[in-house]
Amino acid sequence: MQKFSLHTHTLGFDGRNTEEEMVLKAQSLGFEKIGFSNHFIVHENIKDSKMYRYAHSGGYHQIYSSSFEEAIEKFKPHYEKIDELKEQTGFPIYKGMEVDFFAYNGWQEGFEKALNILKPDYLIGSAHFIAYRGTLYNSHDIKNAGTEEQNMLLNKYYQNIRLAAQSGMFNFLAHLDLMKKVGLGQEQRWMDIERQTIEVLAQFGAKTELNTSGFKLAAQEPYPSSRIMKLLADYQIPVIISDDAHNAGRLGDHFKEAESMAKKLGIVHFYDPFKRPHSPVLNKKNSQDR
Ligand SMILES: [Zn+2]
Ligand SMILES: [Zn+2]
Repeated sequence: MQKFSLHTHTLGFDGRNTEEEMVLKAQSLGFEKIGFSNHFIVHENIKDSKMYRYAHSGGYHQIYSSSFEEAIEKFKPHYEKIDELKEQTGFPIYKGMEVDFFAYNGWQEGFEKALNILKPDYLIGSAHFIAYRGTLYNSHDIKNAGTEEQNMLLNKYYQNIRLAAQSGMFNFLAHLDLMKKVGLGQEQRWMDIERQTIEVLAQFGAKTELNTSGFKLAAQEPYPSSRIMKLLADYQIPVIISDDAHNAGRLGDHFKEAESMAKKLGIVHFYDPFKRPHSPVLNKKNSQDR
């Protein structure tokens, strides 16, 4: 079984436990390492989105920033904390980010500047938002949209995922079929889009995760669905298993089930960006490391 998790969230962002509590739990599970990947979500209109207002009432709006400077200031103390903990415990702890990829003008330049300042060890690419006509839609907004608009937004979602894969900036991409969280994209007619997307991942050497938070849904499988997992096997896309733990109790959740499901579906390439001791792969573009 995979003995690490690189997709996790902590207190101060939208997680429930401190970095220390997460490390203690990881050690008690026999993990060999842990990585923290809090949300890095920067968009100038983010504070006008419905999701922001909702998050504000829930007290986790700090994951949303309208400028890179703002996001950088939030990550600095968190990364300092990780450095201290590494010193104190001697346990391998990695500094990551779950980054919302945006295609707007200036995003990539701003993001690269942020990387130079924060120097994360690894990056997870994701798309929790879809920008359309100046509005940022998240999955719940899409669920509430009309059918035509829903289809268009779902198409745009997969387009974002393809652009993130093409950017070559990410160690792996998160929860490919995130929209099933709200019951969208499950119909047969989305299979062509899924295949096109996986083809782009293969073409650009992108990797993805099996996110076990999907087991919370009725389908009892990770993100992505077994339908997409078969494509990952066909195109030999390497996968990493993630719990997307927002609290210590979920670390390593359903890892065994996800792994055996993946193997049954023909997936043979499992990815670990920190596999080779003393030579961590740090955000290398199109890294071929497995
Ligand atoms: Zn996510
Ligand atoms: Zn996450």
